[in-house]
Amino acid sequence: MRRVAANYIFPIDSAPIRNGYIELDEQGTILKIGELTSEMSSTEYYNGILCPGFINSHCHIELSSLQGKFEKGTGMSGFINQINALRESAPKEVRIECIAQQFEKLYNEGVSAMADISNCDESFQIKKESPIYTRTFIEVFGTEPDDVENVITDAKRLLDKAEEIGLDASITPHSPYTMSPELLTAASAQGLSKGYISYHNQESQEEEDMICRHSGALYENYIQRGLSVPPATGKPALLHFIDRISKVHSAPFNENILLIHNCATNQESIDAIKSVATNLFWVTCPLSNIFIHNTLAPLQLFRKNSLKILVGTDSLSSNDILSMVEEIKCIQNHFPEIPLAEILQWCTLNGAEALSIENVLGSFTPGKRPGIVLIDNIDFENMKLTDQSHSKRII
Ligand SMILES: [Zn+2]
Repeated sequence: MRRVAANYIFPIDSAPIRNGYIELDEQGTILKIGELTSEMSSTEYYNGILCPGFINSHCHIELSSLQGKFEKGTGMSGFINQINALRESAPKEVRIECIAQQFEKLYNEGVSAMADISNCDESFQIKKESPIYTRTFIEVFGTEPDDVENVITDAKRLLDKAEEIGLDASITPHSPYTMSPELLTAASAQGLSKGYISYHNQESQEEEDMICRHSGALYENYIQRGLSVPPATGKPALLHFIDRISKVHSAPFNENILLIHNCATNQESIDAIKSVATNLFWVTCPLSNIFIHNTLAPLQLFRKNSLKILVGTDSLSSNDILSMVEEIKCIQNHFPEIPLAEILQWCTLNGAEALSIENVLGSFTPGKRPGIVLIDNIDFENMKLTDQSHSKRII
């Protein structure tokens, strides 16, 4: 038996405990939690707070070689131009080495599970060998309606490869603006059949302008490149998604649907998707959103609607660092009124539920094996992380 304690522990499924302790068995399974008493000996005491292993709910680990290469604040159309130009700018061995390094860093800093996007197989072996649990989303895009069959065939081939290696994986649509309506439906059908979709939703106002009314920088970019654009719907982009998945099966949708970014999401969109889908997960990637668009998701609107919020780092093409603690600091700085315990739930238990691993990960509940993360340099008076806070896996 091992007992660890700290100034505070955040069990997530119950209130934070001052001078809290956690007892574990050799395998890291939680046996008991409580408040430390003076007669407890053989306790490892840490200065800081302890929380369960993080769930990084959105990442593209295969873009790890792109760190420091992208210009910031370009908006969506500028970002797309850069990714097209730079995606394979480093040789394959370098790309794979960067993936391995980032995976190790994420694990050491406390990430226990990831929802990770793959467009190729370069990360598969590393994911298989890593102690981090990963659910892989084989992401597809393609603007031309004639290409649907080929795109889905290629994606199925990649999915087979992932499953042969032993990864939990499924096909998923990318976004409304990178896909023909037909492909959006076809890819959604694949994802829904496995119970999961991870979809880039309303990332920017440019996306709303393009899908709703055929205007703005993103729309112009597509026209200049001679690409097909979905018909203007006159409605928020999320309603286009609802329209396309409704061709797969009728509501309700009880599958786990992860909506990524949601910076331009409004009440109308929330009401519409909530009326048809029961297991929605709203993933925010704050540092990435600031990097590309200089904006953030309307988290107060999400809280007002009692939405299940999750946190992801996105990729090193749109972030300087893959770090859950840096994402928490960013949220705190922009929304100082949101309690730390709530943000930590977004980073742990909510993500575990989205990946259906909440029986093992996400909280200090006896019987679970969530991993334990130390976050140091805490401002205990205001119960906030400071600029100097770091996270470190201790179990
Ligand atoms: Zn993404």
